[in-house]
Formats: sequence, C-alpha cells, structure tokens
Amino acid sequence: MKKGYFGEFGGQFVPELLMPPLRELENAMETIMPEASFREKLEDLLRNFAGRETPVTFCPTLSAELGFNLWLKREDLLHTGAHKINNTLGQALLAKRMGKKNLMAETGAGQHGVATAAAAARLGMDCVIFMGAEDVERQAPNVRRMKLLGAEVHAVESGTRTLKDAINEALRYWIVHQEDTHYCFGTAAGPHPFPILVRDFQSVIGRETRARMLELTGALPDMVVAAVGGGSNAIGMFHPFLNDNEVRIVGVEAAGTGEPGCFNSAPLNLGSPGVLHGQYTMLLQTEDGQIQPSHSVSAGLDYPGVGPEHAWLQATGRARYGLANDTEAMRAFSRLCRAEGILPALESSHALAWVLEHAEEIRAELPSRPSGPNVVVNLSGRGDKDLGIIEKYQHI
Ligand SMILES: *Cc1c(COP(=O)(O)O)cnc(C)c1O
Repeated sequence: MKKGYFGEFGGQFVPELLMPPLRELENAMETIMPEASFREKLEDLLRNFAGRETPVTFCPTLSAELGFNLWLKREDLLHTGAHKINNTLGQALLAKRMGKKNLMAETGAGQHGVATAAAAARLGMDCVIFMGAEDVERQAPNVRRMKLLGAEVHAVESGTRTLKDAINEALRYWIVHQEDTHYCFGTAAGPHPFPILVRDFQSVIGRETRARMLELTGALPDMVVAAVGGGSNAIGMFHPFLNDNEVRIVGVEAAGTGEPGCFNSAPLNLGSPGVLHGQYTMLLQTEDGQIQPSHSVSAGLDYPGVGPEHAWLQATGRARYGLANDTEAMRAFSRLCRAEGILPALESSHALAWVLEHAEEIRAELPSRPSGPNVVVNLSGRGDKDLGIIEKYQHI
C-alpha cells in the first residue's frame, strides 16, 4: 500500500508549511517509539497513572436476555473517564522526547482537551486547547477541568464554532509554533502519520481484549463492536483482530434523531469521499463539497468525517458499519445502568444500542458454541459527563 494511505484513503492534504512538522513526527515515530525505554515509560504511565489494564466484564443479565454472551471492555474505568488518555499519554511522551515544550490540541466535547491537559500536566508541559466557541458554552464543566489542569483554552469563533473549525484553527496555530509545540491530535484521523500514530497508542485496547478473552473463554471473540466518531477507540479495538477472519468487526455510527433527512454523524453510512483536515476520507458534504454540520445527542461522535482506515475497512468489507440513533442510544444507556450497574458514555451507548437492536440477526450469524458465542462491546467511556443531557432528554 502507498505510504500514508489505506487503499485510496488517507494521505497528507496540507499546506506546504505543515510538511516539516509532519515529517519530523514521522521520523520520531520510527526512531523513538520502538525503543525499549520509550515503551517501558509509556507502560508505566498507562498502568500507574491511567489505570491499565482495564477489565473485560461479563454482563449476566443482558446475556440471558440476548441469547449470546455480552462482554464489555472497560475503558470507562480509566483516569479522565475514557480511552482518550491512552493516546494523549503516548503523544505527550513522544513530544517530550522530541524536545517539544508545549502540547496543543483541538477538542469538541472537551474530553480530548481534558485528557491532553492531564498528560501535559503530568509530564511538565504547557498546554493550549482550541475549542469551538459554541462548544465552550455547551461543555462548560470540561472547560473548567482543562483550566484546573493548567491548560489555556482558546474559543474559536469561525465557521459553525464547533470541532471542525477548532481543528482548522489548531492546524494554523501549528504552522506558526511547530518549533517548540506538538499537535496532539485527538482521533485516528487527519493527515498522515496521525491515523497510524493514534491507532498505535489505542491498539492496547484490542491487544488486552484479545489476551483476556483467550484466557476467559479459550477462544477469540466472535464479534467486536465499537462506536465510531473519528474512529480512535474503534480502530484501537479492531486493529489487533484484523487478521483473524473469524472475528466479525462492527463499527457503529450516530444516526442523529434517525428521521429521514436529519443531521447525523454517519459519514461511512451516509457520506461520500472528499478531503477534510488533511485526509481523503468519507465525509458528510453537500453536492458542491461544502462540509455539512453533523449532529448526534452524543457530542463525542459529532464529527463530519472519519479516520481513513475505517473508510478502507468498509470498502474492503473487513469491517461493517451500522447505525444507532439518539433514542436507541438513550434506551441502551438506561438498560445498561439498570441491568448491569454501569453508567456508559452516550458514545459507547451507541455501540451497545446496535447490539441490543440487532440481537436476533447477531444470534443467527454467530457460530454455536457449548457455552454460547461471545460479543465484546468496547465501553469507550463513562456516562457521568452526560447526565445533564440524559436528564433533559428524559423530560421531553
Ligand atoms: C471522544 C469519544 C469517542 C469518539 O471518539 P473516537 O475517536 O471515535 O473514539 C467515543 N467514546 C468516548 C467516551 C469519547 O470520549
């Protein structure tokens, strides 16, 4: 495959002035990341600061209802509440070894901003976060968290004042500050090498799941499922299983309200290919190529594009991508709370919703096993951050 591409997707569609820092980052990935000392330091941070290894939890009540074994990979138990810390610790450590003094990042819902600010504080780096002005207002508690962790938060007033515009602004800032600043990209998307850099740091999710399922059930899972925003928790779960053809791989996109013609956040299901944020990938766009605003009840899935490797996995058929709408995600959220005593993030609730809504189809498709087939859902984060939205929704 051409370097920096997944089939026809990916690439580096950036201004010439961004090529030097991207090349510098690529070099650092090749020279620093394979070093034993780098791997050991990262492992120590993941274990003793972030809380890895996370458990794989069996769901007895839901499994009995569904007719197959449902397991959850518990990324919700990590420090700062989601999988994002796997990536920010990795990138912060790499940046520090590259001699950078500052971290900068974009954030939509604020989760990546908080995880970046935590990593920067831990490693003694300064931190600048770009956030759409609309999101600064909607996500006030996360803005407070970032500031408490020492980050400077810039509200971006351009465009729709959301994530897409924050990324554009962050890329511009990086051109000027590349000498001493690393751009800690928040998902497995953007120009090469970010999709593989982020995948590398998130693949710990799938590696651990693989080892634990072999230990717990004596076999690989029959299906793994994850929610897809930009695609980092999903590719982290999927990547270690790509060569195991017996493992079915399902990504779940947010269908928004689910009404025909509504805004959604499902570029793989409902978009078309184009260029955004330095990559050629599937996008929500109008016929003349304007980016369409996305919508989901879950802010973390609200991105009009998707990482290029997912576009390729869909094109090759190795993974399939389903949909869950706002109502289905809310229903899955409530069911997991009551049935298993776990409050999932609304993003993760989309992955769970797809499984709950397609139980019959899944039962028919999976092989029969003496102790039942096994489905693992990646629980990418915890739901505490979403309580305001959930209460509002339940009162409608
Ligand atoms: C940010 C976020 C997501 C979506 O981002 P990906 O890069 O697609 O993983 C999913 N779940 C949670 C809990 C998040 O915070």
